[in-house]
Amino acid sequence: MKKLTQWIDITQPLSNSIAEWPGDTPFNYELTFTKEQTGSVNIGQVSMSVHTGTHIDSPFHYDNDGKRVHELDLSLYIGPAMIVDVTGHAEIGRAELEGFDFKDVERLLLKTGGHPDPNTFPEDYPVLKADIGPFLKERGIRLIGVDVPSVDSVDSKTMDAHHSLYDNGVNILENTVLSNVTPGVYELIALPLALEGSDGSPVRAVLRSLER
Ligand SMILES: [Zn+2]
Repeated sequence: MKKLTQWIDITQPLSNSIAEWPGDTPFNYELTFTKEQTGSVNIGQVSMSVHTGTHIDSPFHYDNDGKRVHELDLSLYIGPAMIVDVTGHAEIGRAELEGFDFKDVERLLLKTGGHPDPNTFPEDYPVLKADIGPFLKERGIRLIGVDVPSVDSVDSKTMDAHHSLYDNGVNILENTVLSNVTPGVYELIALPLALEGSDGSPVRAVLRSLER
């Protein structure tokens, strides 16, 4: 019998100890009603920033007139994705990526190693350069994923990388966990929730190898 390909979970677990963006709403899950209280079932509730853990940004996050989560093209978040290792670079742009063959894949995930512990917000992490948008557009990339909390630095007000990507039609997936993933071509599924009007959404992101 053919062995089923293993799915690799690249999602940060949403636990009450996960790190939120400094100053943002922390993640919290708790039971609203216990089985003893209702006589039949446990019922939980969550509160969180939509930018906690593994999530996508919708353009409304950085542009008041940008698309909201429910308006995004779902095909962005399902399909072949290239994983490349850029560990050791503090900033990643055209020069750092030029040497890679993206094999006509439309989704690119960058393994930077910049956020090793989801429960601690990194003091400093690799970011993307402002020249990345035009470069990715030239290469036909429509979705970029990173393994750090943002494509811009924690104190950025101008959001140069976000805007460079946006201006070139590249959508953003943040806070993936790629430490156990070797570079190569995978199938990615990272669907946002159907959150009406939202500027972002948590996703369950998984990969399976497309190489044989
Ligand atoms: Zn975000």
